[in-house]
Amino acid sequence: MKALAHLNKYLIKYRWRLLLGFVFVLASNMFAIFPAQIIRHSFDLVKETIDVYALFDNTDLQAGLYKTFGTYLLLFGLVVLGLAIIKGIFTFFMRQTIIVMSRLIEYDLRNEIFDHYQQLSLSFYKRNSTGDMMARVTEDVSRVRMYLGPAIMYTINLVGLFILVIVTMISVNPRLTLYVLIPLPILSVSIYMVQNIINQRSEQVQRQLSSLSTYVQEAFSGIRVLKAFVREQQSADDFERESNTYHDLSMKLVNVNAFFMPIMLMLIGLSTLITVYVGGLETIRGEITIGNIAEFIIYVNMLTWPVAALGWVTSLVQRAAASQQRINEFLETKPEISSPSKEKIEITGDIEFQDVTFVYPDSGITAIQNLSFRIKPGHSLAILGRTGSGKSTVANLITRSYDVTSGKVLIDGRDIRAYRLDSLRAQLGYVPQDVFLFSDTIGNNIAFGLHDQLTDAEMAQVTREAARQAVVSHNIEAFPDGYETRIGERGITLSGGQKQRVSIARAIIRKPAILLFDDCLSAVDTRTEEAILHNLSDIMDKRTTIIISHRVSSVKHTNHILVLDKGRVIEQGTHNELMRVHGIYADMYEKQKLEEEQRQNVD
Ligand code: ATP
Ligand code: MG
Repeated sequence: MKALAHLNKYLIKYRWRLLLGFVFVLASNMFAIFPAQIIRHSFDLVKETIDVYALFDNTDLQAGLYKTFGTYLLLFGLVVLGLAIIKGIFTFFMRQTIIVMSRLIEYDLRNEIFDHYQQLSLSFYKRNSTGDMMARVTEDVSRVRMYLGPAIMYTINLVGLFILVIVTMISVNPRLTLYVLIPLPILSVSIYMVQNIINQRSEQVQRQLSSLSTYVQEAFSGIRVLKAFVREQQSADDFERESNTYHDLSMKLVNVNAFFMPIMLMLIGLSTLITVYVGGLETIRGEITIGNIAEFIIYVNMLTWPVAALGWVTSLVQRAAASQQRINEFLETKPEISSPSKEKIEITGDIEFQDVTFVYPDSGITAIQNLSFRIKPGHSLAILGRTGSGKSTVANLITRSYDVTSGKVLIDGRDIRAYRLDSLRAQLGYVPQDVFLFSDTIGNNIAFGLHDQLTDAEMAQVTREAARQAVVSHNIEAFPDGYETRIGERGITLSGGQKQRVSIARAIIRKPAILLFDDCLSAVDTRTEEAILHNLSDIMDKRTTIIISHRVSSVKHTNHILVLDKGRVIEQGTHNELMRVHGIYADMYEKQKLEEEQRQNVD
């Protein structure tokens, strides 16, 4: 229950709406009670009139009496109708305030969680599954809303109605009140129990549904592999099995759901029965009138729904508390990468690693050991090494996706941790190893990181320029829609090399102080690679550039080359120096040159 306290700040934020909701709830209940009293009057009137009517047998007065009686009854009817309309209006406003408030809080809470997600470090995303994170912003928030809306509304309603109705009932006849109320707690408890079973089963149904949709999604996105390996029949069988489970669980849910209404109706019926029976006895004893019985039947009916709702509300609140706890767990997660500085500092691009060691916190793998190097502004550095040697980790440390375990990363002589994070990252042009492009147009993907206020024409121009430098403009222009071509799910699929080059264009369009290319030329042939490096030489001249690669051909023109193995530098120097020592670098160079020549011969 404590978890829900997180929401109090929102309740305070919308306190006036909530308070107004209270008022409307009370008003709508008041107007529900008056009609019952009028109906009592009309019942009593009927009885009296019949008695008096009999007295005036065979006189002219009977007709007049009948007319007056009719007029009164009509009047009562109209008043009841009028009160019902007023009650309706207040009920409308009750929902308009409280349910609207719950929707507003739902909106705020969702934004709060999403904003918080975005603050969290990469390792948070490594630890938690996407499905889980999505469930907390969608499903859990919806459950919390049920507490803020219906649960709060029905609770106020219940309390208000109870006080009003019970006070009125006791003032009429305490004994009858006691008898009539007996079935209500039973109703409440049984609804609570049925509701709990319903919740359990609907959760199972929900889980099965999401497993079913994950299955279908995978089958569709893997359709090429599926067809190539002739697994259609197998896939259809698996789907049928999943589908059957879903069907069975849904049927179980239907079974309990079907109990809900009959239980409620039976207990309402029981209350009515008691009212008529005990009320009849009281009437015979002369304690109450027939009108009171009619009045009581209406009260009992008024109480049943809120009392049934009490069971429902209890289970809503329990579910909301569990959901809010899951949400809080994420909200209380602090970003591991902190950004203490508020100052925006322009960097020149002097990068220095001082005896850096890095251990991945989740896996305990030591990816970098005692690494030291320095790149002066405008110079270029290459990092070469076999797979798993720690190259991408160097990039992760410069972008501050992770913080060093020991040692220091300095930019312009200042510890990277002392910079304001967003301003630092804004000055980096990073091409990650695993290219990710959004389902958007190519133009928008390239201009993704551009925060400058540019006109459409200027935007188009810089986008084209970046695409040209990344040697991908001729590909883009060959598409019928050019830069407006959509990529991703509903658009075209780019080849691996095209994606890499779009990703390069996206990095260089920002004209950053530091360029970080993580294996971004692996999917292009050496000739294209050369063209790209040639085109980029202008941009690279003025910026600090780090090129991470497997291939010697990508790195031979850089100012300094580090060869990494198991997180340590095993060789370093310029291309010529390294060739002279005839070490690993020279070995790789010869091998790769040979491979390249062979490939060209085949062509
Ligand atoms: P490749 O050339 O294949 O890209 P790499 O040189 O870039 O390899 P890194 O990605 O830096 O290699 O990985 C170095 C080591 O750190 C590997 O053993 C890898 O398993 C581990 N590692 C990499 N990323 C993570 C991570 N996010 N969490 C835990 N361990 C990781
Ligand atoms: Mg890598």
